[in-house]
Amino acid sequence: MSDILILNGRVIDPASGVDAVRDVLLRDGRVAAVESPGALKGIAAAETIDAAGMVVAPGLTDVHVHLREPGQTYKETIATGTAAAAAGGFTSVVAMPNTVPVNDSVASLEWMLDTTRGSMIKMFAMPAATVGSMGGELTDFAALCAAGAVGFTDDGKPVLEDHVMRAALVAAARAGVPVSQHAEDTRLTGGCSMNAGPMAFRLGLRGMTVEAEARIVERDIWLLRKIEKAEGLRPHLHVQHVSTARAMDLIREAKAQGLHVTCEVAPHHFALTEEAIGDYDTCAKMNPPLRAEVDRAAMITALVDGTVDCIATDHAPHAAHEKEQEFERAPNGITGLETALGLALRILHRGHRVPFSRVVQLMSAAPAGIVKLKGRGSLRVGSFADVVIFDATAEWNFDITKTRSKSRNSPFDGAPMLGRVMATICEGRIVYRGPAS
Ligand SMILES: [Zn+2]
Repeated sequence: MSDILILNGRVIDPASGVDAVRDVLLRDGRVAAVESPGALKGIAAAETIDAAGMVVAPGLTDVHVHLREPGQTYKETIATGTAAAAAGGFTSVVAMPNTVPVNDSVASLEWMLDTTRGSMIKMFAMPAATVGSMGGELTDFAALCAAGAVGFTDDGKPVLEDHVMRAALVAAARAGVPVSQHAEDTRLTGGCSMNAGPMAFRLGLRGMTVEAEARIVERDIWLLRKIEKAEGLRPHLHVQHVSTARAMDLIREAKAQGLHVTCEVAPHHFALTEEAIGDYDTCAKMNPPLRAEVDRAAMITALVDGTVDCIATDHAPHAAHEKEQEFERAPNGITGLETALGLALRILHRGHRVPFSRVVQLMSAAPAGIVKLKGRGSLRVGSFADVVIFDATAEWNFDITKTRSKSRNSPFDGAPMLGRVMATICEGRIVYRGPAS
């Protein structure tokens, strides 16, 4: 692999505390040097990128994506989903197991992680916590971890039964990985397609209450405490796509008590409220649903005060014919990989004065740390050469017709974005080049 020199960029590397203009040398797929401007003069690199005026940061990591392969390649493939990720500045993604068949075995995990699937970037996976994600028998955590699993989840559904979730947390703690929980008490959400409240009444739809999310978070935290006491283990609970103030308060409290809880928030939950559904727009339908303004504001507060560990997109492509049906029948989910950084910079940085370094941390070092990606999430010398270069001042509008994803189900078509990815480099290979400015 040939050398890449990135000159004069503002290097923001929260993991090593660097926020300064630096020159960066990538060699043999690794970060070889991070030096003051000019110090690397004389090195003849195969490619030199002038990053003056740009931010140079660790490649972004998304711990929650649906790539739809195997089984639903009409929605997305590993190749198209990771191409969208590269365009969004991501160099690592973690694929959820609700494929067809469900990723619950070593064979399916190995198939998915096989490099001949055409992934543009580094792809990791969380297999199902229970066989078929049916909520009963646990999958083989030890064997799956040996084959590369970075955590376990039945995402799309919760692990509902107390004894099953308890067993999953214990087995994951022994394997040293998190259980990622889709916190929804499905006993309370049958037939629901949006947030409960006045808007649901007006549209004549059944709404999911905030309690449905909070109850599972509360139960899981109770299990963590029980397991710590009874077994002397320290399980890691990761709460996916938190959407309500109530659940966020529970997480804040559990963290203050020293329990190992991390959580993610999706850009749509800090960018939009249920109002975006308007006249039954199925591109604003996802699970957990868009909530009320008080919940959106609580997500921002938690992103600012540190309760939120990372931003994750829950990228969930669906074909047009699936979204173009009645609201209650349409599937949940939106695409998100190409709009995450632009929304985070516009809403969190510009709108709420969240420093660049915190936004970068929320999207790189922190998520990489949650799933323990070795040598990623930082630009320290010796780390993998996973880099995103973005123009933090560029304003643009997302155009869904230009998406790399196979699907177009985004509520952000035409929406203003701040910050444009100019290059994404994964293990020393340029996997995306931004539009010429
Ligand atoms: Zn989910």
